[in-house]
Amino acid sequence: MGTVINVSNRLPVTIGADISPSSGGLVSAMEHLGSRVELKWIGWAGGHVPEQDQRARIALELKERFNYYPVFLDEADEADYYDGFSNSTMWPLLHYMTMYSRYKTQWYEAYQRVNRIFAEAVLRVVGPGDRVWVHDYHLLLLPLMLRKELPRLKIGLFLHTPFPPSEIFRCHPDRDDLLQGMLGADLIGFQTFGYLRHFRATLLRVLGMESAIDRIVHDHYTTVLGVYPIGINVDKFKQELNSDAFAWHMAEYRAAYSGKKVVLSVERLDYTKGIPRRLDAIEQFLDQCRYREDIVFIFISVPSREDVAPYRALLERVRVRISQINGKYSTIKNVPLLFLHRSVNFNQLCALYALADVCMVTPLVDGMNLVAKEYIFCQQEKIGVLILSEFAGAAQELPNALMVNPYHIRQMVEGLKTALEMPDTEKTQRMAPMRARVTRYDAGHWADAFLADLNVCKGEPAVAAATPEIAVADVRVLIEAEPVALFLDYDGTLCEIRRKPAAAYPQAGIAHLLEQLAAAPGLDVYLISGRTQEEMTHWFGCFNFTLVAEHGSSYRLSPRDAWVLFDSKADLGWMDKMVEIFTHYTDMTPGSAVEVKRSSVVWHYRESDPEFGTWKAHQLVADLSEILSNLPVKIHHGKKIVEVVSMHANKGLVMSAFMARRRYSKALCAGDDETDENMFRVADERIVSVKVGDGVTAARYRSPDPAAFRTFLEAFLAERGRRTGRSEV
Ligand code: UDP
Repeated sequence: MGTVINVSNRLPVTIGADISPSSGGLVSAMEHLGSRVELKWIGWAGGHVPEQDQRARIALELKERFNYYPVFLDEADEADYYDGFSNSTMWPLLHYMTMYSRYKTQWYEAYQRVNRIFAEAVLRVVGPGDRVWVHDYHLLLLPLMLRKELPRLKIGLFLHTPFPPSEIFRCHPDRDDLLQGMLGADLIGFQTFGYLRHFRATLLRVLGMESAIDRIVHDHYTTVLGVYPIGINVDKFKQELNSDAFAWHMAEYRAAYSGKKVVLSVERLDYTKGIPRRLDAIEQFLDQCRYREDIVFIFISVPSREDVAPYRALLERVRVRISQINGKYSTIKNVPLLFLHRSVNFNQLCALYALADVCMVTPLVDGMNLVAKEYIFCQQEKIGVLILSEFAGAAQELPNALMVNPYHIRQMVEGLKTALEMPDTEKTQRMAPMRARVTRYDAGHWADAFLADLNVCKGEPAVAAATPEIAVADVRVLIEAEPVALFLDYDGTLCEIRRKPAAAYPQAGIAHLLEQLAAAPGLDVYLISGRTQEEMTHWFGCFNFTLVAEHGSSYRLSPRDAWVLFDSKADLGWMDKMVEIFTHYTDMTPGSAVEVKRSSVVWHYRESDPEFGTWKAHQLVADLSEILSNLPVKIHHGKKIVEVVSMHANKGLVMSAFMARRRYSKALCAGDDETDENMFRVADERIVSVKVGDGVTAARYRSPDPAAFRTFLEAFLAERGRRTGRSEV
């Protein structure tokens, strides 16, 4: 039990003089959940309802009759959000068809506005423990809008369309916002694994975010990624196939097409469905066919998005092609192509599915394609053949179909011949496993699987839960003690990681904090970084604190002192060899670079292609592990770097040495990456350790990011100033 708030662009109703429910895959999937969940449905009521009174009346009726909560849009938003951004920008792009994708800033503004209207509608009805299920490309900004308002709300997003390769999605002007919007969800579902793979690659290439195969941890939150191929409403089809209306239509059609082979196509008239190419194949087939008078191709082309220009152009093109083909191949006894530019009743559709000898489903790309599954299910009495595009999502589940590449016209012609001449035994062998699958994995199964996974989504990463977030109250012992040492890493700890290391220069806010730290009485600050002496002197030379460079290889006590090697006897004879190996990898990896420090050599690959760079880095680490096994060095694979560093240079060793030398009674150390774990692993009761950012850590506390850690330090300084009665500024 529990409440599911289902949010889709349209409510499944038609509002005319009366309100009548409409059916569809999503409705039946939701109905299947039955009494196990309370279902509230939020969506656009459709049409244009300007008057408030009328809106209130419709809203009341929808709530009382169906538990539906309508969203009303004005005419301008409807045109810009729906026809514009959703159907003229997003739809073609998600279907890999950039040539049809058009863009206007005002469309995006309407899309943002309407997503906000949907968010407000959800916030009005949501209660504690509810799950929200957002559907499809019309509402990609909604998950993050909800997450910002209700951080603990369970939010799922299912994309019914494909998700394109990153090279295509990156063309979108609002790509960052859209991806971030999606990542507001706890669970994002795709129709196929291929689309999930594209999504992960896009996160990496557009946002620079790395992910695991089934999840991505970001901003201290986990979004789970999953594959849930949508199914058909088996019960509804079963019922229809046993109805009198179906039997009546079946008899009627059998008589009408007696002695003929029927090849069926059913789809919305959409440029993704590959209709012109299919017509090309049919024309070639008819040209070669000896028995063409015995074949009828029935096209059910449901009118779609007629307010969008490419759809009108497609209709014209299809009409012209059909009349050309019919003009060429019609005889007195037969017209080969029957084109119905309208939808048919459900019982007529089922009868056509049951009658057809062949069903041609040849989209250029399609999220799933339910027609393929519906045809398979309705082929109960006699067995037909499904010709299926390998680019339909359904192809992943139906490998026994006669698979074709819809761009390969000759292959489609051959496919038609093979299908029409296929022996019954082969038809049965192909159809049986497909029918078993379609029957078992129906719409209800799909909804159950998605909601079950959403149920167990945790939200925050487990590691974050195990390491409490630091607050000033946790470091009371450090507030009154004197002297207190602070061992602070810089990049990723005090300052956000930047794409170019030189861009992490301490800007006004950070510089001010460093000044406060340097001036604080009774506080000794050690800035311990992986950076070189030169960089540290350049950036921090004016501050009155100790600088430690290259993870501890050298230090400078104060601006008046010189740099000193921490271990002057360390063996650094391995460095030349390292430079040679790293240079070899740099040659192979465009965008990467070698940096030679005093006691370490670093290979940077932040500027390389993210996947290629990561691949080469793993290869490098594997190579190094063998080469370096007997040398006094450590390999560190950090954030877009591989570093080989002297074992004698280690932040933990340096920290322990300074703790002993100055006899501190209390200290705090903080850092963000693997090199800082050397400090966190030092077992010393006097030291409070803080990990900044995500990831498994030995630190006692965590701070979510550098900004939060800076806020903590400012509060800590203020509290110390108040307690000790001395200003720290
Ligand atoms: N359909 C319909 N009326 C018709 C013809 C088809 O309702 O006259 C339905 C069909 O049963 C199928 C849906 O339209 O469930 C098309 O879904 P599909 O996944 O194949 O393509 P989409 O239209 O979602 O791109």
